[in-house]
Amino acid sequence: MQHIIDRFISYVTIDTESDPKSDTTPSTKKQLVLANLLVKELKAIGMIEVTKDTNGYIMATLPSNLEHEVPTIGFVSHYDTSPDFTGANVKPQITTNYDGGDIILNAERNIVLSPNYFKDLIQYKGQTLITTDGTTLLGADDKAGLTEIITAMEYLIQNPTVKHGKIRVGFTPDEEIGRGADKFDVGKFGAQWAYTMDGSQIGELEYENFNAAGAKITFKGKSVHPGYSKGKMINSMLLANDFINELPKGEIPQETKGYQGFFHVHHLTGSIEETVLELIIRDHNAKKFKKRKDLIHDITKKFNKKFAKQFGEDIVITEIKDQYYNMKEMVEPVMFIVDLAEKAMKDLGIKPLIKPIRGGTDGSRLSYMGLPCPNIFAGGHNFHGKYEYVPIESMQKAIDVIIKIAELTATTDFSVKEITKPKKSKSKKKK
Ligand SMILES: [Zn+2]
Repeated sequence: MQHIIDRFISYVTIDTESDPKSDTTPSTKKQLVLANLLVKELKAIGMIEVTKDTNGYIMATLPSNLEHEVPTIGFVSHYDTSPDFTGANVKPQITTNYDGGDIILNAERNIVLSPNYFKDLIQYKGQTLITTDGTTLLGADDKAGLTEIITAMEYLIQNPTVKHGKIRVGFTPDEEIGRGADKFDVGKFGAQWAYTMDGSQIGELEYENFNAAGAKITFKGKSVHPGYSKGKMINSMLLANDFINELPKGEIPQETKGYQGFFHVHHLTGSIEETVLELIIRDHNAKKFKKRKDLIHDITKKFNKKFAKQFGEDIVITEIKDQYYNMKEMVEPVMFIVDLAEKAMKDLGIKPLIKPIRGGTDGSRLSYMGLPCPNIFAGGHNFHGKYEYVPIESMQKAIDVIIKIAELTATTDFSVKEITKPKKSKSKKKK
């Protein structure tokens, strides 16, 4: 497993933090340092058609070693890291044969990775963990995915007795700032379906995510001297407050889980004359998602009706923009691609953890761009911060899953299954 560790460390020690304020692709030039290394490595292990376009998107091919035609599949991951926490000067630390207790990340600053707080740690007792030194994130999100895909391809090249069809790999910049799918050329990729290797703990398999929209609601007001304002003043801040109170109680992020949707007020700024309320709307169910948006419009109408006489024009102006949609709609018509991944895990003795994502993924956008793309675990935990860690054994299992999916694709009879591409439609950026 040393080669997995070495490869992973060679990636995480290159700073590839993305930047939401930048307009370029990749958003930061430094991402290209790793991109260039990945291109070199893909060529070195024997991949063909290795390309990096002007936006930094990398694609490569492992040709089929079969006599007969099977579907072309793809594996995708991203090489940037989250701007939520610094990714500069990552100094990975390795804990072998983890004893199930506290891991001191940084003695000087008293930073400890403890199973008392991070309960998931316990399941990795006896394994080899890679952690940070407490001053940076690790970047297992998603350099674990890169490591796994390249190592699996290397294995397939070195072991030609393992039969597989044509496999495409794709590495993107800027996933962490919601742009990873933006310039992904689905046509050029040419796979019938793909998997992002970008999930968290071992066993994760995801093909459902939120439908998402953002609302900007502007409240107008009338400022009058408070001593003489009876019947005249309209305080837009209080209007916003009343509006929030009209939303269903408890349907907020901190009180929901699983398939429960929510409204999330994330920004509120105002004066008497004008208040702007920003909220996001999330729901897995398309009908309920629409109902939530309708509710916002209905409350808006109610307020406008109530103040029509006194204010003379619309007192509330609401704009709602869809951000992304649940990939389930695109994946369900080709559900066998999820079944295939599930079977691969079961064949390897991995318990599949199939659960809805309470967010979006690049896979959801790719799915709406014509490339159905469920998400598979990459093995890491506590992404985007100093407590991030990844067990090597989980990375090895992810490599095994990729190889197994390749094998199963070669032996499964897809003629009975309908492989039709979902219709193209546009989805907006994820939030
Ligand atoms: Zn990721």
